[in-house]
Amino acid sequence: MAHDLHLKLKEAIRTKNAEATVENNDGSSTVIEFKNVSKSYPNNVHALKDVSFKINIGEFISLVGPSGAGKSTLIRLLTAAEKPSSGDIFVAGRDITRLRKTEVPFYHRKVGVIFQDFKLLPRKTVYENVAFALEVADATNEEIREKVPNIIEIVGLTSRIKALSEELSGGEKQRVSIARALVHNPKLLIADEPTGNLDPVSTWEIIELLFKINKQGTIVVLATHDKEVVDTLERRVISLRDGSIVSDQNKGKYVL
Ligand code: ADP
Repeated sequence: MAHDLHLKLKEAIRTKNAEATVENNDGSSTVIEFKNVSKSYPNNVHALKDVSFKINIGEFISLVGPSGAGKSTLIRLLTAAEKPSSGDIFVAGRDITRLRKTEVPFYHRKVGVIFQDFKLLPRKTVYENVAFALEVADATNEEIREKVPNIIEIVGLTSRIKALSEELSGGEKQRVSIARALVHNPKLLIADEPTGNLDPVSTWEIIELLFKINKQGTIVVLATHDKEVVDTLERRVISLRDGSIVSDQNKGKYVL
């Protein structure tokens, strides 16, 4: 039964898979650009070596590669958690390698991030977890009361709104973390192994949700080890190995 559901969800993703094409106000469509980005760590590890690529509006990108290839490093650079050793990273026209410390929280409002281990507040409810992301951004109570139930509905968790996050299934927890990532209507959603802890049915439900969010205009960057997901999506795949891009293909497949 569960197996059938997983196949049905997978099929639904295949049939819905039509690429959105949108342009920026200036007619261009590039939102993210890595320009000759390298990152070395003090132990002389070259985690990324001269990496360049562009991401356009509407894209859904899988980032794949074996362990140690540099995926997490790339994501930390994209979220401005770290700075590159050299090169530039432009997001919506801004070089994020030059952000001041005080500007980083504002950048984070434009970029949603979700993780394999969800990073929720376990003793708080679904509502409170999502509301918290707005509270720390100084939203008014009125804004919180209006926005939170709407976002929870988008991720399909209205019936669980009062449940404590520690009582939720893995798939439900990931939905909460997606809701939290969406509170500021980000242009970019970064998903770092979001299905790594999920069963196949929840995996496809989460991928379907990411797909829906992408359709509404948010770029999705999905770092994953899940070959079946990448191959089913038939979207762009960037493959990293030893800190370099070894392939970058539209409608790509998972290749190590
Ligand atoms: P992936 O996410 O693809 O598994 P990572 O980006 O985590 O790869 O790692 C790329 C390389 O950089 C690895 O050799 C790793 O050991 C090294 N590395 C990552 N983070 C650090 C760090 N903070 N300090 C030192 N080396 C690191």
